[in-house]
Amino acid sequence: MTPQHAGPSQLKDAFLAVNDRIADAAARSGRKREDVAMVAVTKYASPDQIRSIVELGQADLGESRVQQLTQRVPQLTEFLSRKKTLAGASARAEDATPDKVRWHMIGQLQRNKVKQVAPHVDLIHSVDSLRLAEELHNYASRLDIVIDILIQVNTSGEASKSGIAPPAVTHLVESIDTMMHLRPRGLMTMAPLSEDPEDARPTFARTAELFNDVKTEAIGGDHFNVLSMGMTNDFEVAIEEGANVVRIGRALFGETEA
Ligand SMILES: *Cc1c(COP(=O)(O)O)cnc(C)c1O
Repeated sequence: MTPQHAGPSQLKDAFLAVNDRIADAAARSGRKREDVAMVAVTKYASPDQIRSIVELGQADLGESRVQQLTQRVPQLTEFLSRKKTLAGASARAEDATPDKVRWHMIGQLQRNKVKQVAPHVDLIHSVDSLRLAEELHNYASRLDIVIDILIQVNTSGEASKSGIAPPAVTHLVESIDTMMHLRPRGLMTMAPLSEDPEDARPTFARTAELFNDVKTEAIGGDHFNVLSMGMTNDFEVAIEEGANVVRIGRALFGETEA
């Protein structure tokens, strides 16, 4: 049997279940549900599922591929504005659609794609080099805007993962902090792929430590307050270790590639 995208009622159940699991993990780390933001990663989702999850109240969406991002952001914007126009006639009490949706770029970003990606996103999680930061800064300067970014750290040391090495983090944050049109908001990491979520704990603990070091030294300023770590397999461990943003795809939308 070919796997299908989860339908609306399955999606709602998954959405509620994941939210409960986030709340429980937040409680275990002495925090509340609202202290941890969920980015719904849409790379496995159909356009219908994206609309459905937004109607359930999901305001943060993430994409890892440039082409999907540049298609999906305008599609959803169009859907939401049409919906707003019609809202007078059909507004329903149970409709939880947020006023504004925020898009997150979570995948590897090549310097020659900055122009395509930057206009569509509110936060870029995957800045992993000074050269990419400089390209983003040039772009933002020309438009006289400020772009929020996270620095992706390769804490696990796997050669296949992008991200900068932990000892280079402080210096990169310092460099980026001098760029008037970039705002370093925090760190992002990915744990090694594993069946056992506990295997991710050392990676998350080390990244949280780095994050706190930068905060303590007040390098990144007050706005340096985002720690993005944890995916379907390991988000509860990530929250226990201090994540305040988790990026979740399969647990919401099912296993199927869009
Ligand atoms: C795909 C992806 C996710 C979500 O992964 P799931 O295992 O589906 O939850 C999170 N972060 C990044 C960077 C991704 O590429």
